[in-house]
Amino acid sequence: MAKPELSNAAIADALEELGDLYELDGAIVHRVVAYRTAAKVVREASVPVAALAREGRATQLPGIGKTLQEKIIALDATGTIPAAEKLRAKFPPGLIAITRLPGLGPKRARLLHSELGIDSLEALRQAALAQRIRTVRGLGPKLEERVIRALDELEANPAATRSPRILLPRALEIGEALATGLSALAGEDASITLAGSIRRQADSIKDIDMIATTTRPAALARSLAKLEQIDSVSSAGRAGARARTHAGIAVDLRIAAPAQLGNLLQHFTGSNRHNAALREVAVRRGLHVSEYGILDASSSKVDATGATEACASEREVYARLGMAYIEPELREDRGELEAARAGTLPRLIELGDIRGDLHAHTIASDGHNTIEEMALAARERGYEYLAITDHSASHGFGNAVSPEQLRRHIELVRDANARVQGIELLAGSEVNIMPDGSLDYEDELLRKLDWIVASVHTSFGMGERAMTERVIAAIEHPLIDAIGHPTGRLIERREPYAIDLDAVFAAAARTGTLLEINGNPNRRDLSDVHARAAARAGVTLVIDSDAHRTSTLAAMRWGVATARRAWLTREQVANTRPWEELGKLRKQSRQQLAGDQLVDRRSRERREPP
Ligand SMILES: [Zn+2]
Ligand SMILES: [Zn+2]
Repeated sequence: MAKPELSNAAIADALEELGDLYELDGAIVHRVVAYRTAAKVVREASVPVAALAREGRATQLPGIGKTLQEKIIALDATGTIPAAEKLRAKFPPGLIAITRLPGLGPKRARLLHSELGIDSLEALRQAALAQRIRTVRGLGPKLEERVIRALDELEANPAATRSPRILLPRALEIGEALATGLSALAGEDASITLAGSIRRQADSIKDIDMIATTTRPAALARSLAKLEQIDSVSSAGRAGARARTHAGIAVDLRIAAPAQLGNLLQHFTGSNRHNAALREVAVRRGLHVSEYGILDASSSKVDATGATEACASEREVYARLGMAYIEPELREDRGELEAARAGTLPRLIELGDIRGDLHAHTIASDGHNTIEEMALAARERGYEYLAITDHSASHGFGNAVSPEQLRRHIELVRDANARVQGIELLAGSEVNIMPDGSLDYEDELLRKLDWIVASVHTSFGMGERAMTERVIAAIEHPLIDAIGHPTGRLIERREPYAIDLDAVFAAAARTGTLLEINGNPNRRDLSDVHARAAARAGVTLVIDSDAHRTSTLAAMRWGVATARRAWLTREQVANTRPWEELGKLRKQSRQQLAGDQLVDRRSRERREPP
């Protein structure tokens, strides 16, 4: 029997580990990054990479050279990579385990080893409990808390930390490809819907749930194995199939009769907590809800199977329980059942409500397209306005815009605005909020801008009080319109920095400063929970793409998804309004200024016709 194919997920894990080992060893950063990039490419490849490597064709993938291909071939043939073996022998095994702990990673593990001699998970726990980690420069009490939490979680559930979570766009891409592939194989009579956390538009996804109806269930379940994305199928029958993709993502296909599609879709859209709460509501009405239907326990017709009532649509499921239909994004047990019963569910914002994007970059800073290219792409999306907000003077990643360059940049935006018809271009900036709360352009220069986003890009490790004061200082600045990605989180990679959000929301509401939901799918910041709390505190939100190229203007979609999960209506989001109306929303200090600028620009336009 042929040995099973080495999965892309296994190759990616091995390359990632090799990158970690090199970092632990203090290798140059380029080398470490090269392995991580390659791991990502392999993980996301839709074809089996081991087979490609054997044919000498893995080098066709971006970021994979000859050396890496050889390592993949060795891994495929022997189950290990010689370079990794050599490095592994250099370090205590406990230290390698520490690098895998969430919140640590090789850089910190190396530091803890060299400074405190920590070489095992147990030694790490002792150091955290004895508050010795905070004695290392750059590490603090927060990390000690995280370490203890992570070690507890690892003990409680050793397998959980290993299964990968992927971000929504990638999950949706794989899910849609699978659904399309299945539809093509199944023919006309089949319908396939994505359910689960993808349908709820969650931040990250652990497995892909699909619900299908068809007249030939067994054939449909079998055809899952024929899709190129699928690595293995563990079971397939009339009720569905379970499979795994090359990227290691679990796929759960469930097949229903059309008459009970509503029940199955409702059940597999979840979340678990929403479903549990729904079952409780049902029980109080003498009903029992399951994936198969609704059973009336009090009915006289009751026998073993008789009284189960199937629902073809989810709307019927909720109606049978005395509730209005609940949008999938709200199904998190955050009060939606009560609201659905009381008829007070919000009418959620939609992507089509968005009239403009107020955070985008160009080649003037770290973007990839020109002002004009961004303008045309935004117009293509049907927007009425676009703010060009390149990074300010002290950005720190290179490509910053000096004050002199900003003056010139404003002129370029004005010129492009005159040239490109059908969209209003706003000259803006994404200015840095310095650690002391000051901004890195003079007010005199900021005054020339139409739109200013202020963001934290440095010194994430400061204490909660200092960070809160820092952000509130920017909120209280009379020229700041909005705070960009207000918590600095990166989904699955970086926690929000320490900040008192209640104080931030209060300050934003008091001053009329907008808070952003950044649509970059790695950020989605504010998060759903935070955005909802902000809106409740009276803050108006703005949803932006933070696009760095024309294609990522599309990230608006993920920002809107977060807004929907935050229960937001169109009225609570500033950029659902035309630009003139949005102006009236801005804080008094800005309205005054915007009025002056408008007069200024009009008189200038009269003087110099385009
Ligand atoms: Zn930013
Ligand atoms: Zn930005």
